[in-house]
Amino acid sequence: MTGDDRDQDGGLRPATLAIHAGEGPAVTGAPVAPAPVRASSFHTHPDAVGFSANDLGADAPHFYSRWSNPTVQLLEARLAALDGGAAAICFASGMAAIAGLFADRLSAGDHLVLSEVCYAGVAELAQDLLPRQGIAVTLADTADPAAVAAAMRPQTRLVHVESPANPILRLTDIAAVAEVAHRGGAELSVDATIATPLGLRPLTLGADHVVHSLTKYIGGHGDALGGAVVTDAAHAAALRKGSLIHLGGALAPDSAWLILRGLETLAPRMALHQENARRLAAFLAGDPRVDAVFWPGSADHPQAALAARQMSNFSGLLSFTVRGDAAATARRLAERLQLFAYAVSLGKTRSLLFYIPTDDILRASFRLQGAAAQRYRDWAGEGVFRVSVGLEDAADLIADLDRALG
Ligand SMILES: *Cc1c(COP(=O)(O)O)cnc(C)c1O
Repeated sequence: MTGDDRDQDGGLRPATLAIHAGEGPAVTGAPVAPAPVRASSFHTHPDAVGFSANDLGADAPHFYSRWSNPTVQLLEARLAALDGGAAAICFASGMAAIAGLFADRLSAGDHLVLSEVCYAGVAELAQDLLPRQGIAVTLADTADPAAVAAAMRPQTRLVHVESPANPILRLTDIAAVAEVAHRGGAELSVDATIATPLGLRPLTLGADHVVHSLTKYIGGHGDALGGAVVTDAAHAAALRKGSLIHLGGALAPDSAWLILRGLETLAPRMALHQENARRLAAFLAGDPRVDAVFWPGSADHPQAALAARQMSNFSGLLSFTVRGDAAATARRLAERLQLFAYAVSLGKTRSLLFYIPTDDILRASFRLQGAAAQRYRDWAGEGVFRVSVGLEDAADLIADLDRALG
């Protein structure tokens, strides 16, 4: 199944929404492609808008580009439609979006339950910065709804998960964890960067907020940073006033334009990312130098049934472990790969590969110990090779990896 197969809301399917949602009326002489509006401020009138963000009305005209901007607004409309949310707020990066959501939803004395495996920057933000603001954080294996339930406290306001989770592609059952969060009086936010709205629509499964790094598949070309939170109208208004206007991490109009350009081809790109990942995963699974392969679309993914139930595209990110000395393999791949860039990030046209040593990520980012560290090691061994499978011909990618694995 691909994302295009689903009918939704008003009847328009994701591939169509990615191109048309939020567009203006077809007035004669109007451009058929959006242009970036590079203005920092807009003509106004004393009766139109107050000077303070606290007086910002829902339908206020554009005033200052940190508050709103026509190019960013079009992107927000398109993202909201794709996720089936009332509204989206864009930020300068995925981290700005997540930090903005945490700042809006959490106050001193509150408690956050966080996926014990997630984007390293989020793990570090939650463990370094939030405690200094009086916010307690508990890490939990969100692949197990009972573990989330056990981590809940009376002060828990937010449960934040990532599915699939970077870098081991472990999944969270969104509907089950939403139920646990809501039963405990908390909200659920889901980082769906890796799945994209073509693969996972957490709001329809009961989540309260979805976050995306637009830098990845949605922008798709590795040339712009951006982030977004998709949520209901009231939370979006609060996010705009507090986290966007006051913390100030606004998305630049040129970046919004690049991301809109990328978004137009999200559906066909995700179909091809998925197909190439399927072929690469099959090659790796049959290779004696490889120990394990993790890709949600594989029949032998530990949560294959959940993946099939919850996802409509399995995306192009996979990870694998090798037999023998993984660090030596990493050096060999960095030196020999020709088509894959040995580089961080994911979700762009070009294929990328990066080695993540288990000791390093457990110590510097996740800080897991005991059973939690062991759970991570059970998947990752001494380290995982994270592969963002791009849009090159899969046969060429397989040949490049085969040669470089030596
Ligand atoms: C990249 C990424 C982020 C952070 O996004 P930036 O745009 O780099 O700030 C957050 N979550 C996930 C899953 C990511 O892959």
